[in-house]
Amino acid sequence: MMRLPPFTYLQPASVDEALALARQHGPEACYVAGGTDLWPNMKRRQLSPPVVISLARLAELRGIEITEEGGLRIGALTTLTELAAAPAVRERWPVVAEAAALISTPPLRNMGTIGGNLLIDTRCTYYDQSYAWRKAIDFCMKKDGKICWVAPSSPRCWAVQSSDEAPVMCAIGARLTFRSPHGGERELEADALYRDDGIAHLTKQPLELLTHITLPPPRGWRAHYIKLRRRGSF
Ligand SMILES: Cc1cc2nc3c(=O)[nH]c(=O)nc-3n(C[C@H](O)[C@H](O)[C@H](O)COP(=O)(O)OP(=O)(O)OC[C@H]3O[C@@H](n4cnc5c(N)ncnc54)[C@H](O)[C@@H]3O)c2cc1C
Ligand code: SF4
Repeated sequence: MMRLPPFTYLQPASVDEALALARQHGPEACYVAGGTDLWPNMKRRQLSPPVVISLARLAELRGIEITEEGGLRIGALTTLTELAAAPAVRERWPVVAEAAALISTPPLRNMGTIGGNLLIDTRCTYYDQSYAWRKAIDFCMKKDGKICWVAPSSPRCWAVQSSDEAPVMCAIGARLTFRSPHGGERELEADALYRDDGIAHLTKQPLELLTHITLPPPRGWRAHYIKLRRRGSF
């Protein structure tokens, strides 16, 4: 059984408190929402943050609202189950609910959040392995090693983003709102969040907090999500 490394677990009760803790502990700390991506990555020692700041108690990050323009404001802590079932989402942007419903299994959708989904780490077959497995091949350049096993002569990492919601959010023009631990807020087009690099794959700063996602009014647009995969289950 793989165990988590030791770390300090902090549970702020407000966004302001979470940002203050992030400022205090610096970029080696890490947020956790549902933990379905972070905990396995820590068990595999791909990440070993000394401090983990839980977002679970931040009621401000929950909920789905209709905006004045007729779009949607989705809190980052909204679970994938809530997103798939929400009448406001199914009416305005059914493609977002469709993609959420196709993610993994019900237990994972009950824990996993939309914020975490948009911010999951990149992966490949050589990287998505236990510490012992990766050590046996002398690791790779994404963590602890020097070369890329996918393309050994490549100067870069080719690990990919596997979020089902990321392509949907980019396609429909969603905007993401982040708050910085050093003060200030910024809004980013979803497709400006992602970079074509397996290691530096996000333009987000390490402890910027994703607070919510704004979907535009549908204005007659119709979109569907079809997931191509080898298995029908997950
Ligand atoms: C068996 C299995 C199957 C999976 N299948 C799929 C699949 O089919 N499709 C798919 O898209 N994904 C899949 N995933 C990936 C992932 O678990 C889900 O996408 C899930 O939505 C991640 O959300 P989370 O809240 O659990 O993220 P977490 O694990 O809590 O966080 C993920 C990352 O985001 C950061 N983070 C989370 N929330 C915030 C925030 N508000 N602000 C700033 N940083 C934040 C964390 O620090 C961490 O780096 C799978 C995972 C597993 C283990
Ligand atoms: S460098 Fe990137 S693509 Fe290459 S093996 Fe490692 S994680 Fe995979």
